[in-house]
Amino acid sequence: MSTAPCLFCGIVAKDVPATRLYEDDEVLAIRDIAPRAPTHILLISRRHITSALELTDADGPLLGRMFAVAADLARSEGIADDGFRLVSNVGRWGGQSVDHLHIHLMGGRAFEWPPG
Ligand code: AMP
Repeated sequence: MSTAPCLFCGIVAKDVPATRLYEDDEVLAIRDIAPRAPTHILLISRRHITSALELTDADGPLLGRMFAVAADLARSEGIADDGFRLVSNVGRWGGQSVDHLHIHLMGGRAFEWPPG
């Protein structure tokens, strides 16, 4: 297990700057620093969870909150009607580069399926 400080824990704690769009006691939403779509937002759990692989039934309310916040942001960003992509990468082959649970909210253009 890595002992390096977690980047997203640093953002949650405000030790690392980020463009914060929403936060509550469980979830933080920020703009991705390297957007891959006109709208690219990250929904981050306030608690450190390494990835979706660590989730249990007890995290149901947290996930409900993350998806509900994503839906609200999709509406406020004006991407709800055309549709958008929600994705959580897990592990090396899944393309995860930050080991702290997050969901990408991406929109403003069409996406391919399956992803590359
Ligand atoms: P993933 O590769 O799925 O783990 O997603 C991590 C995301 O975090 C990438 O889309 C990065 O562009 C984004 N990211 C990395 N550092 C920062 C940062 N300091 N602020 C905002 N987003 C970041």
